[in-house]
Amino acid sequence: MNTVTSIAELRAELDAARAAGLGVGVVPTMGALHEGHLSLIDRSVAECDLTVVTVFVNPTQFRPGEDLDAYPRRLADDTALASERGADLLFVPAVEEIYPPGFATSVAVRGITERLCGDATRRGHEHFDGVTTVVAKLFNIVQPDRAYFGQKDAQQVAAIRRMVADLNFRVRIETCPTVREADGLALSSRNAYLSADQRERATALVDALRATQSELSDGVRDGATLTQSALRRLADRLAPDDTVEYFEIVDPCSLETVESVDRPALAVVAARVGSTRLIDNFPLEPKTDRPSAIPTTNPIPQGAAI
Ligand code: AMP
Repeated sequence: MNTVTSIAELRAELDAARAAGLGVGVVPTMGALHEGHLSLIDRSVAECDLTVVTVFVNPTQFRPGEDLDAYPRRLADDTALASERGADLLFVPAVEEIYPPGFATSVAVRGITERLCGDATRRGHEHFDGVTTVVAKLFNIVQPDRAYFGQKDAQQVAAIRRMVADLNFRVRIETCPTVREADGLALSSRNAYLSADQRERATALVDALRATQSELSDGVRDGATLTQSALRRLADRLAPDDTVEYFEIVDPCSLETVESVDRPALAVVAARVGSTRLIDNFPLEPKTDRPSAIPTTNPIPQGAAI
């Protein structure tokens, strides 16, 4: 595996690969790679001739007061892990390589990014503007055939799918299932911030999602009823200083609240356990006699994304 830091060098490598007819996959990350990231790399390595992993702690997607400086940076470990899993190129640009002096452009997806994690009171759409802008840049730099993202960040992938469809990027977005610890906690680089007590309380999120799924299987379809029940469970398990930012049942594509789970939906949750912000989600399938036609991992029809 070759590590490159400049856009020019990366493009030279990729031009040669493309000239040789190789299909290119990209896995964008902020580093501190764990099994969740590695599952994306595995998928790209299995499906593409050449896999580019990007490691870039993107400053524009951190909100003021967030953990930009404290965010874990482990380039030596990341290099070893990405190489072991078969990545071909590791792109590790400096901030100035991505945002040179005078940089003035933003790619903003409206609607999807203005609720849940993008709620105006949390200035969240600025976070998503940072994500879509850097991902648009990475798509233009790498020009991948496929790009791999985690279902764990469902709102992020919904925004990226919207951007790809709206701006006619020629890339196929692949969403990979959330990788979890044995007790169900979704893997996240931020789990390292949790104390032992907080780590135990953090499973309240996945447990609330599981309970929602089982209530749905028992026949409860009303979104408000499922939500109230999940909020009660979260309140029972979390400490008084922890805060639930939201628990909602939403449409997997638009992320609008659904009143009744009559078709595939998504239960989404965000909470602060201590000062660590955690998110998680579960796809919900209403019970039907026939198999579902809508894959939960592909919220926007693929044809629309090309
Ligand atoms: P990040 O480094 O946090 O920006 O994440 C990079 C990519 O890894 C994103 O597409 C995430 O959705 C994905 N990812 C993060 N955690 C997980 C996980 N537990 N399972 C699957 N994918 C994940």
